Amino acid sequence: MILLNPRQLDRYYPDDVSRQIIHKTVAFFENKGLKKIKEDDHAHTWYADFLEFIKQEKIFATLLTPTIYGLNDNYRWDTWRNCEFNEILGFYGLAYWYTWQVTILGLGPIWMTKNEEIKEKAARFLLDGNVFAFGLSERKHGADIYSTEMSLTPQPDGSFLANGEKYYIGNANLACMVSTFGKISGTGEFVFFVADYQHKNYELIKNVTSSQNYVGQYALHDYPITSAEILARGDPAWDMGLNTVNIGKYNLGWASIGICTHAFYEAIQHAANRHLYNMAVTDFPHVRQMFVDAYTRLVSMKLYTLRAADYLRSASADDRRYLLYNPIVKMKVTTQGEEVINLLWDVIAAKGFEAEPFFEMAARDIRALPKLEGTVHVNIALIVKFMPNYFFNPMEYPFIPRRDDAKNDAFLFDQGPARGLGKIRFHDHTQAFENHPLPNIVIFMEQVQVFKEFLAVATPDETQQKEVDFLLALGEIFTLVVYAQLILENASIYEIEDDLLDQIFDFMVRDLSRHALNLHSKPSSTAIQMELCLRMLRKPAVNEPRFGRVWQEVLSLKDAYTMNP
Ligand SMILES: Cc1cc2nc3c(=O)[nH]c(=O)nc-3n(C[C@H](O)[C@H](O)[C@H](O)COP(=O)(O)OP(=O)(O)OC[C@H]3O[C@@H](n4cnc5c(N)ncnc54)[C@H](O)[C@@H]3O)c2cc1C
Repeated sequence: MILLNPRQLDRYYPDDVSRQIIHKTVAFFENKGLKKIKEDDHAHTWYADFLEFIKQEKIFATLLTPTIYGLNDNYRWDTWRNCEFNEILGFYGLAYWYTWQVTILGLGPIWMTKNEEIKEKAARFLLDGNVFAFGLSERKHGADIYSTEMSLTPQPDGSFLANGEKYYIGNANLACMVSTFGKISGTGEFVFFVADYQHKNYELIKNVTSSQNYVGQYALHDYPITSAEILARGDPAWDMGLNTVNIGKYNLGWASIGICTHAFYEAIQHAANRHLYNMAVTDFPHVRQMFVDAYTRLVSMKLYTLRAADYLRSASADDRRYLLYNPIVKMKVTTQGEEVINLLWDVIAAKGFEAEPFFEMAARDIRALPKLEGTVHVNIALIVKFMPNYFFNPMEYPFIPRRDDAKNDAFLFDQGPARGLGKIRFHDHTQAFENHPLPNIVIFMEQVQVFKEFLAVATPDETQQKEVDFLLALGEIFTLVVYAQLILENASIYEIEDDLLDQIFDFMVRDLSRHALNLHSKPSSTAIQMELCLRMLRKPAVNEPRFGRVWQEVLSLKDAYTMNP
């Protein structure tokens, strides 16, 4: 079974230390129990117990220190094991995941800097159990980081005074190193530097959210900065920001997968044991349909995200395909997470509001993930840049296998300039589809063929190419094709059975039709574009015995997992 089940932790690890971290983390949450997790959530209790556990076990230090700054080979940035750790934190509560996520973001510019002293200091802070923070966003400017107002004013002795405010910054209340983005006043040159929350010129203004997390507003008032605190200036500082977000946005998918998996276990258990009109709720045909959709969407989220990690770990200056696959984890996997929760909530109805189950927290938190690390729109706008090369200019690459080896993912902190996205090329996507000639996959391929015809013969004109609304609709279809491709690649690696795979493509065919109808309805779509959109509308291949077998697989999970009370 591909879904995480804390009662059956059997994921492969090449070493004992990694396995122990996973087991101990699960044990920490199971010992804490659902009741206490929910109480802390409702009371917005600071998660000091979790941070103490992380410190005692040196977990962030082991997982987030590149080997050369660590104590031994167990210290490495290893995306394979970070995947499951991410998923577990999402599974038990997004607040725990968030403090880890912003530590990752804060460490991004630090591991990327050429300033060796800062790196060594950061490694010591990690060993001591500290967390980190990433100060990019400002209250007035949102996604528009060009307009950053945080400034460093040069002083006669070569140092600087930092002034400005940051907003929505996780861990801003206790990070000894808050990686902060700004500009040098006068020249407007970009700069990344570190600030310490304990410094007297660092003002922690408030928590801007009402939650267990501290998502802070902080201000620097004539905060002295010397070369010892500077991470980078100019283009490298800009690249640091974007390259850090490239890493961080990948984790968002795992938070969604973890949340949905826990919610799924609760929902199926509740529905299968609830009897109305002398039958189980799971006997309603529409409930079965919703559960099968939720399950197939969730399995797809996981297959895609796992496969994207293989490309992330194998990335190099010559293979930057991850720059397409990661934003899709961010925008597609996280919005699919919302869809899974919607489906489950429609089934469990009032139960989803109850204070005691996990679900109430899931229904709230699943909404956050599409909005972090750039919104869905920002990511689709990014993704469409890859479309021409993806469809019309493939090239050969060596096959990338499952990357579960004990390697430090050094390239992540040496990604180079964040430019040239339109030049990145991809391997031929059709191969993955042709390897699985199942009825719904064949229909999906026919839809994709029409979409390619749309791009080739009804190419969006110059005005449409500048119209974000139109591009977003187009980007949804493109995204779905890439999503499908990586799911199929991983279906081979994980030996997913044909029934489940064909059922996955049942919703894929429906989704592509829905996106085509949306594109059809855009104000600027032309007659030929509209006609091609209508040709993309297809019905999935109906196969009741197949649906029945997948449903039995779903129902068999009804008692698979219950959290310790
Ligand atoms: C709980 C939480 C924690 C956070 N933690 C951190 C943190 O630790 N560090 C940090 O630096 N930031 C953090 N953020 C900020 C987060 O990254 C921003 O919310 C995000 O970048 C979007 O900014 P915004 O929400 O202000 O939206 P805005 O930038 O105001 O966007 C408004 C609308 O415009 C659209 N839009 C903007 N630009 C484009 C574009 N180029 N193309 C298409 N559409 C566009 C958006 O999609 C959106 O619909 C956090 C936010 C939250 C809510």
